[in-house]
Amino acid sequence: MFHWRVEDRTDAIRHHCGVMGISAEEDVNLPELLFYGLFSLQHRGQESAGIAYHRHGRIVSYRDVGMVASALSHYLKENHPSRVGIGHVRYSTHGTNKLENAQPIVVSCNKGEISLAHNGNLSNSDELTRSLIAGGSIFQSTTDTELLLHLIARSPRPDFRGALLDCLGLIEGAYCFLVLHGDTLFAVRDPLGFRPLVIGRRDGMVMVASETCALGLFQPEEIREVEPGEILEIQGSRITSSRLPDRPATAGRRAHCIFELIYFARPDSEVFGHSVHLVRKRMGAMIARDDPSPGDLVIPVPDSGSSAALGYANASGVELEHGLTRNHYMGRTFIQPTPALRELGVRMKLHPVRQAIAGRRITVIDDSLVRGTTSRQMVRLLREAGAREVHLRLSSPPLRFPCFFGIDIPTREELIANRLEPDGIAREIGADSVRFLSLEALRGCVDRPDDYCTACFSGEYPCPVMDAPVHRTN
Ligand code: SF4
Repeated sequence: MFHWRVEDRTDAIRHHCGVMGISAEEDVNLPELLFYGLFSLQHRGQESAGIAYHRHGRIVSYRDVGMVASALSHYLKENHPSRVGIGHVRYSTHGTNKLENAQPIVVSCNKGEISLAHNGNLSNSDELTRSLIAGGSIFQSTTDTELLLHLIARSPRPDFRGALLDCLGLIEGAYCFLVLHGDTLFAVRDPLGFRPLVIGRRDGMVMVASETCALGLFQPEEIREVEPGEILEIQGSRITSSRLPDRPATAGRRAHCIFELIYFARPDSEVFGHSVHLVRKRMGAMIARDDPSPGDLVIPVPDSGSSAALGYANASGVELEHGLTRNHYMGRTFIQPTPALRELGVRMKLHPVRQAIAGRRITVIDDSLVRGTTSRQMVRLLREAGAREVHLRLSSPPLRFPCFFGIDIPTREELIANRLEPDGIAREIGADSVRFLSLEALRGCVDRPDDYCTACFSGEYPCPVMDAPVHRTN
């Protein structure tokens, strides 16, 4: 086991996304099926969505900013028979939510028409981009996806498969991507397996998706993970599997993103061989064991704290109550230009159930603490609603380091746990106490803990982060 340690990096805002691909033996209304799959992956990206599918020898695509239901709703009213297609949902921050960055991207090049949808972040993208720009390449977007397409097009090998292998030989970091070339769907997962990617099969149809919750819709007969370093070539329902050659530095190693289990994935998904819900319950039970609070009522911060709160309540024997209600219909694009509107936004998003919490000593269970601003507002709302004490318990360790593998984590300076110890955090957010799950306890919640990346907690990165990520996203 070895690590490259990064002590003092600041980060750019990073992104996480969801991908979905379908290949069928017969024509089906493919965009409609992709719509439903992407709808199940909406939690992975809420700022743009897109679909590309093969029809009459061409790739047809549509992408737009917004959530799946608004960006792609026309696909529910139309019939577009096709056998193969891919889709993408994207998360980004303000300023980078441009239509050019929406995916899948479609290009026509010397390898034919190609469409690509990507989830992850290449850790050597700046180095590769600089060299391509020096050679005269022109980029229209700020995405790693466009970089991948450039690398495929510039490969000296004439065949698409060979060019894809050339591209894979150059890139490093976290990537799961789906590529449409002619009537063939390719699915690739990086050798360290940072992000989840699963494949299922049913009735002459093969589905590939970021999470099992998207495959569950189609009631597949079998589901398995796309293995780290595996390349799948799918035509109709025929699947050919091959592997990326191991690199000496990472041979045999895994670096599954543990944050998928803490927060990103949906609780009904199975990720890295674990039920997300059950792992979160275990995290809650661990924090109850190691750092119990004097509270007499446990409430989750919905929804990502719900499973951990159940685990905490079961392990501690303290009553569980739904003391906070979340408005699920606000989306991420809510504009909050002034402090007054931001305050209104928090109250609209998260609202306490006064009758349930007044006069009680509350233990609030949340998944993680980033800047502390939302927690401060939440603690104030709970006190205004009559809570006698508010104790915050986090089902993850203190977040202290940026992520270079596709996840949006602010700069080290902005991370509250990087500035303050738990008691200082409690004072800053107005809570009676704050405690985190230890890294050791978190590792105890998963099988084979050495197969996980925990770099945002430990600063120990599982592969080199060569260039400061200044502008590229996924
Ligand atoms: S640094 Fe954190 S968020 Fe990024 S891949 Fe590793 S565990 Fe996941």
